[in-house]
Amino acid sequence: MLDVTITREVKIKLYRFVDYFKGFENVEVVRNLFGKDVEKTLSRLKVEFFSSRYGYMGVNPDGGHLMVSTYYLKNGSEKEIYLDIIHELCHIKQYLEGKELFDDRFSYVERPTEVEAYKLAVSEARRIGMTDDEIYSYLKTEWISEDDLKRLAIALNVTPQDKINS
Ligand SMILES: [Zn+2]
Repeated sequence: MLDVTITREVKIKLYRFVDYFKGFENVEVVRNLFGKDVEKTLSRLKVEFFSSRYGYMGVNPDGGHLMVSTYYLKNGSEKEIYLDIIHELCHIKQYLEGKELFDDRFSYVERPTEVEAYKLAVSEARRIGMTDDEIYSYLKTEWISEDDLKRLAIALNVTPQDKINS
């Protein structure tokens, strides 16, 4: 027997999304995503901040709230954080529709829920003036292999000039 007591069930601290991420209800792509429920949905959305240096953001499968790394929020590029929120809001919509966000029958880059979220983020990236080179580097993360990155870029019609010329 251990001579200690460990509280195994702890409550996580959740915050209101709209207190930290303001104006998303006015972004056209977000309005299109949630339709007339946009204000209501975003005002109900909760966010959990975690302090790991690893990871960026995601949707918690138990409860459907957003999870955001405080390290990334502080140090990441503003455009990429913006696009990640668009991507994750798409997952929030999917979650609310009862879709399986972590469907292991598909690889990450082929999972329909991921492709849909990436498509939305890429179209928004183009709207805010990012080039395909910038978008390609945005898509690059440590958990996607070089081959998967290429496949994802093709699925999203992202054609970086660097890759064509080299
Ligand atoms: Zn995703």
